[in-house]
Amino acid sequence: MVRDLNTLLLDSSAESIAKAGRIIKDGGLVAMPTETVYGLAANALDGSAVLKIFAAKGRPADNPLIVHISDFCDIGKFNLVSEIPKGAKILAEKFWPGPLTVIMKKSSAIPFEVSAGLDTVAIRLPSHPVARELIRCAGVPLAAPSANISGSPSPTTAEHVLKDMNGRIDAVIDGGMCEVGVESTVITLAGSVPRLLRPGGITVEQLREVLGEVEVDDAVLNGLADGAKAASPGMKYKHYAPKARVVLLKCTDDEYINYVNNVSTGSTAALCCDEDIPFLNVRCFSLGKRSEFSVHAHRLFDELRKIDEDNAVEVVFSRLPSTDGVGMALYNRLIRAAGFEVIDLGKN
Ligand code: AMP
Ligand code: MG
Repeated sequence: MVRDLNTLLLDSSAESIAKAGRIIKDGGLVAMPTETVYGLAANALDGSAVLKIFAAKGRPADNPLIVHISDFCDIGKFNLVSEIPKGAKILAEKFWPGPLTVIMKKSSAIPFEVSAGLDTVAIRLPSHPVARELIRCAGVPLAAPSANISGSPSPTTAEHVLKDMNGRIDAVIDGGMCEVGVESTVITLAGSVPRLLRPGGITVEQLREVLGEVEVDDAVLNGLADGAKAASPGMKYKHYAPKARVVLLKCTDDEYINYVNNVSTGSTAALCCDEDIPFLNVRCFSLGKRSEFSVHAHRLFDELRKIDEDNAVEVVFSRLPSTDGVGMALYNRLIRAAGFEVIDLGKN
């Protein structure tokens, strides 16, 4: 574990969480474990504390933050929204606490910095006990984007956080590796039909089961058309990218192995599955067994960071994931890591 005197590395004991709560009350920044990825938390009701998040991450000022609460009642207690839509109660009942963020019309209690000037606010009730205890100790809702430098893979361990944020933030609480591994599903209820803005651990199929019709925003599976306005500003930025070039292959398992072996050089690698490893003659970074998509999500960012640490890797080949179930979250992250570069081997 990297240690630095500037950023305090805390364990997840009650005393440490209480200490982190005091840092937040005093306007500081604390990275906390959640079930999705590590979040960089500040008092969501204090615009100047929130501004420090943007500075620490190098986050574009037009990209709004998710507000984290520890109980559904916090929405009313802190007057976070102008009205709670019926769909929000249905979603909360079914999926909170958990990896789902719900966008609603905001109230005037939400600082401009949190909503980045939009008239909506994104709210999530995480299930991770450390995150919830920290929110309770701080006594305020916490604005918390992922605790990485903007553009790099999201952190799923305290070590990843320190790698990016050492000396830029007051403290990080070590809660081990995040369970889900990709950021929360984001759905907006601010329009006439609920719309998925970012896929995550809660799938669109699950959302449709309880809400009926749910649209999928164009930017989830495709790049934004030139000049188009992003419903979720975060989707327009290059994201999750390791330094190496990522290329996605649309192919069968055999085609994947043959192609990667045929083009292999000393600087190519495979972001692959366990079953591929014996057949590949390049450096392998495995996401797990072929059929275990939630394990792929759990490991994705850690493997992307490992690729970053291997200076010999210049190009990495991965399969284009299916968009079913949690596959949609993987697809959404990988296609951005690849800058939308896909080779369809079926067409060659
Ligand atoms: P992060 O927490 O950094 O992983 O990203 C939060 C995501 O939620 C980004 O893609 C934001 O653009 C999106 N987001 C947060 N608040 C809103 C909002 N009010 N309306 C639309 N998207 C939002
Ligand atoms: Mg992020």
